[in-house]
Amino acid sequence: MRLAVIPFLVLAGPALGATDDPPPAEAARLLLEKAEAGAARGQYAKAVNTYEKIAKEWPQTPAGQVAARRTGTSGYVGHVDLVRNGPSRNRVDVAIMGDGFELGQQGDFDTLAKVAPRNFERHEVLEEYYAYHNFIRVNLRSKDSGVDQHGRDYDTALGAFKSGMAQGQVAVRPDLVRAMLAELPEHDSLAIVFVKNGDLGTGGNGVASVGGRDPKTMVHEWGHAFGGLMDEYTAFTGHRGLVRNGPNVSRTEDPEQVPWRHWLEARARGVKVYEGADGRPQGAWKPTTNCIMDVGMDFCPVCREAMVLRIHEFVDPIEGSTPPPHGGPADAIHVDMKLSVRQLEPVEFRVAVMQPKSHGVTAMWWVLPEEEAPRPSDPDVDRTLKDRRDRGPLPPIEARPLARSRRPKGGEHSFSVDPRDFEPGRYRVVCRVIDETRVRGSKGPWVLSDPAGLLQSERTWWLSLDQ
Ligand SMILES: [Zn+2]
Repeated sequence: MRLAVIPFLVLAGPALGATDDPPPAEAARLLLEKAEAGAARGQYAKAVNTYEKIAKEWPQTPAGQVAARRTGTSGYVGHVDLVRNGPSRNRVDVAIMGDGFELGQQGDFDTLAKVAPRNFERHEVLEEYYAYHNFIRVNLRSKDSGVDQHGRDYDTALGAFKSGMAQGQVAVRPDLVRAMLAELPEHDSLAIVFVKNGDLGTGGNGVASVGGRDPKTMVHEWGHAFGGLMDEYTAFTGHRGLVRNGPNVSRTEDPEQVPWRHWLEARARGVKVYEGADGRPQGAWKPTTNCIMDVGMDFCPVCREAMVLRIHEFVDPIEGSTPPPHGGPADAIHVDMKLSVRQLEPVEFRVAVMQPKSHGVTAMWWVLPEEEAPRPSDPDVDRTLKDRRDRGPLPPIEARPLARSRRPKGGEHSFSVDPRDFEPGRYRVVCRVIDETRVRGSKGPWVLSDPAGLLQSERTWWLSLDQ
């Protein structure tokens, strides 16, 4: 067998090498990359033509299969960053999609897509954490420009349809949204979909569908989709089964049991227990009478707290730290350092933090002897956390911090340790950062209860001080 194979390889080698053309898989990949780059620049028709060519010429290659997915009558065309505030691993990535936009109407969608980040930037609550988001425009082409209803079925990328709700609110198919998100190199399973010819909107499980460009509708649906918030309005929207508890809707009026009881205990102004929510006048209760999940323009304090916490499920208030570890990954959370107490230069530690619009996040620093330092969390687990809730709250530190700073220059807190101030031994330098959500112009903090410790983060360094 072996002898039979070897002469074949010897013969095949020079035959393949005789031409300078890249092998088919490579050729297909390069062309696909070129088409995607073109789509990102607005060359949509050209990109689709190229996908068709790749799918036809190199159907067996990985790129050929990707291209084939994009050659149907409706589907994915390309994507581009609309607003990139930071790396996807530490931001909320919001994909902006359109349904019912034909290939020749992508320019209209591109204009409309810009509305989404602008609505965030101009909204009282979302603007404070605007920098915590990225916005990625995803161009989809639809064969038709209609919303399915009364048995009429249009061919669109996301299958928009009139939901069964009383006002005919527009919705899209979540499985198709997921398929389009899968075309992106990274995503957070979150999308805002503008539906051409759609009415009002719906939201849930990461997907907000909106007809038109009204900021209130978009933010309201984003509250459903992203924040898991429920409707606070009373108007009948269709039968919804039993009332379930949400952050802002309760199935009981008992002040001890409503999900926002901590706001009642804090006597927050305007927060009580009002009957009428979840699209029904009775049997469901809400915290306020003026919330964007009802008739208001802004999130009520209860919904605002839920939105801020949700953002922090994705975003660590610490963006990075130095000095970096020796030989470890660049984003390590705990670093080992060896120094001599006779070292003449102090060592500077730095922690870069996220920057909300109007307030700073606080940093506190400790240098703790090994026996007083809290048990470190598992750095490998920390680094690979997808959902920050899985870390759990940080263990308390009894000792008073040696330093505390609120609003650092350039978003970086720093702290110096002079080894000559310490006895030889093993120490832990701890930096803890907390977003106290004390937003300028607000009476109290935006978050009263943070059981998972989402607003806190830490970086630590082991210091071994020798003679
Ligand atoms: Zn609310």
